Amino acid sequence: MRSLPCFLLAACLVLQSSRGGAQTAPTFETRTAGLTKMDGLFPLYWEAKTGKLLLEIPSFDKDFLYLDQLPYGIGSNDLFLDRGQLGTEHVVHFMRSGNKVLLVEPNLAFRSSSSDASERAAVKESFAESVLFGFKVEAEQTEGQGSHVLVDATDFFLLDAHRVAERLAQAKQGKYTLDVSRSAILPENTKNFPRNTEVEAILTFTNDAPEEKSYVADVTPDAHALTVREHHSLIELPGPGYTPRVYNPNSGYFPTLYRDYSATLGAPLDQLFITRHRLQKKDPAAAISDPVEPITYYVDRGAPEPIRSALVEGARWWNQAFEAAGYRNAFRVEVLPEGADPMDIRYNMIQWVHRYTRGWSYGDSVIDPRTGEIIKGQVTLGSLRARQDFMIAQSLLDPYLDGAPLPADNALQAMVLARVRQLAAHEVGHTLGLAHNFAASSLGQGTSVMDYPHPLITLDSNGKLDLSHAYAVGIGAWDKVAITYGYAEFPADKEASDLADVLQQAQKNGLYFITDDDARPLGSPHPHAHLWDNGPDPAAELERVLTVRTAALRNFGLNAIPVGTPMSQLADVLVPLYLMHRYQTEAAAKEIGGLDYRYALRGDGQEVTAIVSPADQRKALAAVLRTLAPETLTLPEPLLRLLPPVPPGYPRTRESFAAFTGLAFDPVAAAASAADLTLGLLFNPQRASRLVEYHARDSVNPGLDEVLSSVLKATWQAPRAGGLAAETQSAVESATLESLLGLAASNQASPEAREIARFQVAALKTQLTAASTLPRERQAHRAAALARIGEFERDPAKFVPAPPVDAPPGMPIGEE
Ligand SMILES: [Zn+2]
Repeated sequence: MRSLPCFLLAACLVLQSSRGGAQTAPTFETRTAGLTKMDGLFPLYWEAKTGKLLLEIPSFDKDFLYLDQLPYGIGSNDLFLDRGQLGTEHVVHFMRSGNKVLLVEPNLAFRSSSSDASERAAVKESFAESVLFGFKVEAEQTEGQGSHVLVDATDFFLLDAHRVAERLAQAKQGKYTLDVSRSAILPENTKNFPRNTEVEAILTFTNDAPEEKSYVADVTPDAHALTVREHHSLIELPGPGYTPRVYNPNSGYFPTLYRDYSATLGAPLDQLFITRHRLQKKDPAAAISDPVEPITYYVDRGAPEPIRSALVEGARWWNQAFEAAGYRNAFRVEVLPEGADPMDIRYNMIQWVHRYTRGWSYGDSVIDPRTGEIIKGQVTLGSLRARQDFMIAQSLLDPYLDGAPLPADNALQAMVLARVRQLAAHEVGHTLGLAHNFAASSLGQGTSVMDYPHPLITLDSNGKLDLSHAYAVGIGAWDKVAITYGYAEFPADKEASDLADVLQQAQKNGLYFITDDDARPLGSPHPHAHLWDNGPDPAAELERVLTVRTAALRNFGLNAIPVGTPMSQLADVLVPLYLMHRYQTEAAAKEIGGLDYRYALRGDGQEVTAIVSPADQRKALAAVLRTLAPETLTLPEPLLRLLPPVPPGYPRTRESFAAFTGLAFDPVAAAASAADLTLGLLFNPQRASRLVEYHARDSVNPGLDEVLSSVLKATWQAPRAGGLAAETQSAVESATLESLLGLAASNQASPEAREIARFQVAALKTQLTAASTLPRERQAHRAAALARIGEFERDPAKFVPAPPVDAPPGMPIGEE
């Protein structure tokens, strides 16, 4: 070596090491000698002394599915990294070049259906692929036609595939980086099967200077180190025999789409299909047949009884829909066998997940991106939901009469279990391919488990609240339609017309589908598609809910909490009752400036559009204005005397009402937060803009001027209340003024809507200026209002309305 004319030391070292490498390159046998082999789709070799995991690649350029999951989560609803969470599925293949092996994800979003190889190549070459990882060849051996290659996959399986660090950064939790020294492959949770290879790793993310108060700090023993587990699955792609089914926006399914650049001119570029499981009849000619292979779901053993049984029962409702679609025993639900791994791709799972605060339940799926076939359904149910439901029942039923404990079979638990059954069915529905049908509850309770159900609370003949029919039981009529569309077998030559018939028949039966984008926005015009509502007439239902709420508030008191509970907790139990009307108010408000419509296709006979009748709009406005009335919002004095500040050890939470009164309960802030929910709907700039135009199209429709006049009549021009109700009234008036000024200044409203809002501001100013002698408190209130109007008038473009008073999530409960 010394004799080498080595002027460039670096080049010399490279030369020496590559020579050395060539001399000592191990054979496949020597490299795997003494390692623990796990045979399967991709054979694995565990080297315990180094903690390395080697992967054998038996063939190249053959597509398979790669998926990451999060078996151990973080437990924070705000960080959305839950136990059992699915990651992203990728169709990938290994590609070899010299001593490198690349994991390549081809681009499936852009395809060519052409039979011409050059046309197909033109599409493939036009769009980027993604190489997900690069491996170095450790050893190889020739076997038959090809060669088997061994790579060191340790670094790959220690990747943050679930992008935990990225999510923490996005959630502003500071800079967490993966610390490989505190991370390792877990051989006991690494398994291999003929059709799937499963590898698990424990990963630690560190941060030298974590925030003292953060979501991470809420849920970790030490916020400097956040440790989770990530799971990688390499899965054989499903074999032939699955036919994608065409998407129809009225069918109730999630679409999957790709672009076909070989579609003929005039034909759509985007090809849309539904996502669904593979299901085939054993006897395709029979009207009712057993399936070749049933769809089976498994319930987490970690769910306690009686929840576990309720999950099984609710999920099993789907069998009714598959029966309607021509199958017998096609849909099964069992408790996961002991020792089975929920991460195993072969199990459709219903998991019971704990978090620090309550939040979403959801249904997710692993989908074959080539076809839309669902390979695995994964349901995540947040456990705190059940406790919130219990508290809702507590607030309504006055259950701890004279301090007595609850009987074992109490009405509160019965309502919770009814809800759990319904929720299990709902989330499983998502994993069968189904989207929300928010129109369903307007067609009758129980029309679809894919709506968000508000408990149907009624008054019995003695004026007591009755929750016995709070939630519907069984699968809905719409769900049967949707499963028939997605899963029934039709003769190939008649499939298109048979599918159209399924939806036509549903339409004849008054069933239709409207989903999230049309129901969720506060400015949505749809009068029937709502979250957490009941019944066909939103305004009538709001009136009914307000009556029930009045009766419940009259009864509400000590008997809502068990003996020995801090009295301050009564305030948290009060929240869902006090806000009982919030979602039905939203439903009724959507009738104002409302537009009824369907996802109509030319020739399908559905209604295209219809402005909500003037009578229905005015009825809805009258009902919504009741939610601003002092008598609706002011809590009675005897109840206020029962609401002390919280004792040590029982902090206020995000479930509590906001307060301007420090430690003491603040009934006026509670009223303001409820009023702000209503005002946000009434003064929504999109709704205001529609009101202007619908009135112009036909003067029988209420216009924005009429609606704003009605709101001011119900607030600033209403008869004066006394006592605490007068403070409620003032708070609602101030909030109304902020909303009016906000609309007049909003660049999201049409210029015409802003003009009308400004006109109403001017009219209100005239009224306030002309006021006669007033008590001192009223003088202050009016002076403040005039000052705010002055600020607006000085520069409307710069005017910022006061933010609404935060309302706790309240009743019902959140997202699913
Ligand atoms: Zn949902």
